[in-house]
Amino acid sequence: MYKVRRWVVRHARLFEWVYRGFEPLLVKLHPLWRRIGYERVEAPVKAIEKGVKGLLFDCQMCGLCALSATGMSCPMNCPKNLRNGPCGGVRANGHCEVKPEMRCVWVEAWEGSRRMKYGDRIQVVQQPVDFRLKDSSSWLRVVRKLADPTRERADSGAVK
Ligand code: SF4
Repeated sequence: MYKVRRWVVRHARLFEWVYRGFEPLLVKLHPLWRRIGYERVEAPVKAIEKGVKGLLFDCQMCGLCALSATGMSCPMNCPKNLRNGPCGGVRANGHCEVKPEMRCVWVEAWEGSRRMKYGDRIQVVQQPVDFRLKDSSSWLRVVRKLADPTRERADSGAVK
C-alpha cells in the first residue's frame, strides 16, 4: 500500500481531475440518496469508499477527507495525525521521525500539491480530527454539505 500511495501522490493531478468529475456526480445523486435514506446507504457507500481509498491512499476513514487539499497524501497516515503541516521532527532526508522508513506525509503532501491545478488549497487550515466521525463516509458527508448545507450543519456540527 505504501508504494501505491506514493504513486498516487506522484500522479496527484490525475486524481484531482478524477475527483473533480466524481464529486458532482455524487452530488447529482443526492435525491436518490435522500429517497433511499442516508442511513441506509451509509453502510454500502462506506464499504466502497473504504475499499477504494484504502487501496489508493491508505485511507483511515477519518470521515472528514482532506485529500484534495493535501496533495492526495492522507494526513491520517502521519503517526501524530497532524492535519495542518509537519511537526518539527522531519528528518533531513524528508522521512518521519517516528517511522524512519516512511517519508513524512506532509513532505509528500507538499510535493503532490505542486502537481495539482488547485494545489494552493494546501494553505487552507483544516479542521482538527473529530473522532466522532471516524468510520463514516466522507463522500456522503460532502454530498450532504453541498446539496443541503443546512441539514448537514444540523446533523453533525462539523463539515469539510
Ligand atoms: S483524510 Fe480521512 S477520509 Fe481522507 S483519505 Fe485520509 S483518512 Fe481517509
